[in-house]
Amino acid sequence: MQISYVCQASPDATANEDFILASERFVIVLDGATASGLPNGCVHDVAWLASRLGGQLAAVLIAQPDLALREVLRQGIINTRALHPECDLTNPNSPSSTVAIVREHNGILDCLALADSPVVVETHSGEIIEVNDDRTSHLPAYDRDSLMQLRNTDEGFWVASTKPEAADRAVTASVPVTDVRRFALVTDGVSRLVERYGWSWLHILDALEKQGPASAVQAVREAEIATEPGTYRGKRHDDVTAAFGLIG
Ligand SMILES: [Zn+2]
Repeated sequence: MQISYVCQASPDATANEDFILASERFVIVLDGATASGLPNGCVHDVAWLASRLGGQLAAVLIAQPDLALREVLRQGIINTRALHPECDLTNPNSPSSTVAIVREHNGILDCLALADSPVVVETHSGEIIEVNDDRTSHLPAYDRDSLMQLRNTDEGFWVASTKPEAADRAVTASVPVTDVRRFALVTDGVSRLVERYGWSWLHILDALEKQGPASAVQAVREAEIATEPGTYRGKRHDDVTAAFGLIG
């Protein structure tokens, strides 16, 4: 695979809570959830969780190339739990992350998305396959106490944190590699081009391929600055990660 990517902190953040790791046959993109400020029982920060989980996912993908992606995610969460046994892993506010994975194996491109970091695949026939877990877009409330109640429940949304069963809620798709023209993995800092600013996935794929991943970041920042603050729920800016892939 040919992978190009950008992973950049929000201009008003001190740390980048997105994380990316790519090899010749897989890409992992994570978006750590910014801490709510509620007690979380963990001495580690969100960037620690995202980078450690990313590393564990890569280790599983390397050691067990046949493993289904949901099982890779389950094992990655279990292995990451083991890295901080001193923390209270039962706390619902424990640091958490979205997960997007694309992996090429035995002629198949396997895709996984948990929470709002989508994967998009375009086939040679022009079909756009969106692997998108949009549960976080349909919550009854977004204040921090509600999110605590809704996190990692079937009434709310699932993220990668301390519960291995989150892996069962991930959205997956598998596409024969010979059908794949190109693909992308993005965090919600970039997918807001679609959700807020009227772009199509085809437009994003074209920008990533023809102008490079940094061009998508520039487009996001320009759109954010041109938008009246408070127009959308949440932060004005966010960390941004976009990975673009070609087979071959
Ligand atoms: Zn911890």
